[in-house]
Amino acid sequence: MTDLTTQYMSIKKEVDLAVQRVLESGRYILGPEVEAFEKELADYCGTQYAVGVASGTDALILALLGCGVKPGDEVITTPFTFIATAEAITHCGAKPVFVDINPQTYNIDPQQIEKAVTSRTRALLPVHLFGQPAPMDDILDIARRNNLKVVEDSAQALSAEFHGAKTGSIGDAGCLSFFPSKNLGAFGDAGAVVTNDPQIAESVRLLRQHGAKTTYVHLMPGYNSRLDALQASILRIKLRHLERWSNARRERAALYNRLFSEIENIEPPFISENSLTSANYYTVRLCRESINRGHLRQYLSAKGIETAIYYPLTLHLQEAYLCLGHKPGDFPESERAQEQVLSFPMYPEIEREQIMEIVESVKDFIKAN
Ligand SMILES: *Cc1c(COP(=O)(O)O)cnc(C)c1O
Repeated sequence: MTDLTTQYMSIKKEVDLAVQRVLESGRYILGPEVEAFEKELADYCGTQYAVGVASGTDALILALLGCGVKPGDEVITTPFTFIATAEAITHCGAKPVFVDINPQTYNIDPQQIEKAVTSRTRALLPVHLFGQPAPMDDILDIARRNNLKVVEDSAQALSAEFHGAKTGSIGDAGCLSFFPSKNLGAFGDAGAVVTNDPQIAESVRLLRQHGAKTTYVHLMPGYNSRLDALQASILRIKLRHLERWSNARRERAALYNRLFSEIENIEPPFISENSLTSANYYTVRLCRESINRGHLRQYLSAKGIETAIYYPLTLHLQEAYLCLGHKPGDFPESERAQEQVLSFPMYPEIEREQIMEIVESVKDFIKAN
């Protein structure tokens, strides 16, 4: 699905030097590398602040807490996402309230958000799934009218844009993941919160470090969720290549789009006029039962072509969220998506010939079945 070593080999000299510099500096927790990365990341995103944390999941938790989400609150989000989105809400003591997705974009459907708002709703948590921006104009409008915070789950969408603004910079806070398979991948776990709100930035800074502003003076019980200096030094190198890599991904996605659009019953990702995808994952919909997804995956796998299903079980039907009392049929578009989506290999270094072979193999399978 992705090839991390090829990318490392292409920047090995720079990365090895940076790592060595940190190892020899003796500064492993926070310090100058983390501060420099935070500044460079904020510049890239067009935000006032960036705060490095230990993972994308922690970025979500700390951003929600920074927005004042507390036990008893409700946070509205999509069930068709990675579980970390909902877990973050749960770990603040709040309740995830799901609303269904728009089948074209797989992102939360703003028309359904308003019906889910109650007096307990504190925040909206849209996800830019696969790197396709959620409709932030409608989401911000609903938030403004109902006095809600907006936290963007931008874990898959660093480098995506909505009306020219980088995703993550549009709501009250944006949450980034640098998990190795994300488009800016660390060599381990890492994440960040970006924001223009000085209070949220300060709050996340305190929370990531045991609620301490100065050593051993604790203003609140916090967490140990700092970004490693080693990861920051690597991310600083990779951030300089991000725009080039993202353009390469978008170009690969355009090739996939062109080739897949010739096949009946396969729906390539939606192309929006007012936004730019990060193309973190390349996901199509198999529209008809006539293309058996399991059999197709086996057929491709036998030819050495990996595929993935993001995500095979929507969150409202997960055992982890049985407590919310949902049943099959509650969110029909999410349930339809879980049966029909299929993701193909996507990374900046993938060769055009590989993409052509992959789509050719899909055609061969359909012809033979
Ligand atoms: C990866 C991901 C996360 C969590 O990020 P981690 O860095 O793995 O903790 C959260 N939300 C979405 C949509 C993701 O894809």
